[in-house]
Amino acid sequence: MATHITLYTGAKMPILGLGTWKSPPGKVAEAVKAAIDVGYRHIDCAHVYQNENEVGSAIQEKIQQKVVKREDLFIVSKLWCTYHEKSLVKGACQKTLSDLKLDYLDLYLIHWPTGFKPSKEFFPLDENGKVIPSETDFVDTWTAMEELVDEGLVKAIGISNFNHLQIEKILNKPGLKYKPAVNQIECHPYLTQEKLIQYCQSKGIAVTAYSPLGSPDRPWAKPEDPSLLEDPRIKEIAAKHKKTTAQVLIRFPMQRNLIVIPKSVTPERIAENFKVFDFELSSEEVKTLLSFNRNWRVCALVSCTSHKNYPFTVEF
Ligand code: NAP
Repeated sequence: MATHITLYTGAKMPILGLGTWKSPPGKVAEAVKAAIDVGYRHIDCAHVYQNENEVGSAIQEKIQQKVVKREDLFIVSKLWCTYHEKSLVKGACQKTLSDLKLDYLDLYLIHWPTGFKPSKEFFPLDENGKVIPSETDFVDTWTAMEELVDEGLVKAIGISNFNHLQIEKILNKPGLKYKPAVNQIECHPYLTQEKLIQYCQSKGIAVTAYSPLGSPDRPWAKPEDPSLLEDPRIKEIAAKHKKTTAQVLIRFPMQRNLIVIPKSVTPERIAENFKVFDFELSSEEVKTLLSFNRNWRVCALVSCTSHKNYPFTVEF
């Protein structure tokens, strides 16, 4: 199993990265340092996670200790929905760079296709509690993203949570300069995304699988929700390989040519989650895991279902 995927830009992206959503400031720095110490070279960040400053301090410390060089790391961040106006994109990226204490990002994603009205709040709401959309179209936001590449702030640009019609709109943009290098989407055995992955890969767009463990710490979890980590059928596959359920859930997307970004702030788990290069699921097991699809989403952005660019109204 290769450790990297080559993006169409020629850059090599490590297929296993550390997620940082919900990793609290105060814990995330230790997590990032533990990850780098055991071999992670890819960190998945976002302004909206409100911890990029601490993530940046940890990265800085590991570079200063000469554990890693900047060029050996692959750092991803994301443009939040309140910054879709063309005039706001560069400032948002510079804020992330300054928090992360970096002079470039390896990859910068439009976090969601849904732009919100510029605001100090991450979710600006009207008097009925509905998110106020921005006037901007994501195709124009994309033009501003392209400028970040030309200005050297980012090496590559991509998207997240876009459906295939929205991707097509970007690919068909008049005067398109750079196509998206990556689409980062939710993907695990309960949401296998076969059609969207096939579409992206056929266009030379790499796919990152988020919430690979089913995001048990998502704030809106309900006791009756399905649990990947508790699924006896997945536990059984793990036992066969003398691996943990989490390791199977991380290995599964790797064997589908995806990039995967499990989150943990627990050093033992961070190490466990990286020990996935020494076993292989059979094609039968991959098929079995695919058969567990039930189109169940962790991140359905339910507050935005009436937004004109809400991505999950089409099949894929
Ligand atoms: P996840 O990685 O599926 O699950 C994280 C949860 O699993 C945490 O509660 C963690 O606990 C636990 N865990 C980690 N390793 C474990 C292990 N070996 N055994 C048992 N439990 C384990 O969920 P996620 O955070 O939603 O997704 C991963 C990353 O994808 C995010 O952090 C973020 O970077 C990215 N993401 C992006 C988007 C987007 O819109 N683009 C959306 C969601 C997520 P502890 O931390 O307490 O150890």
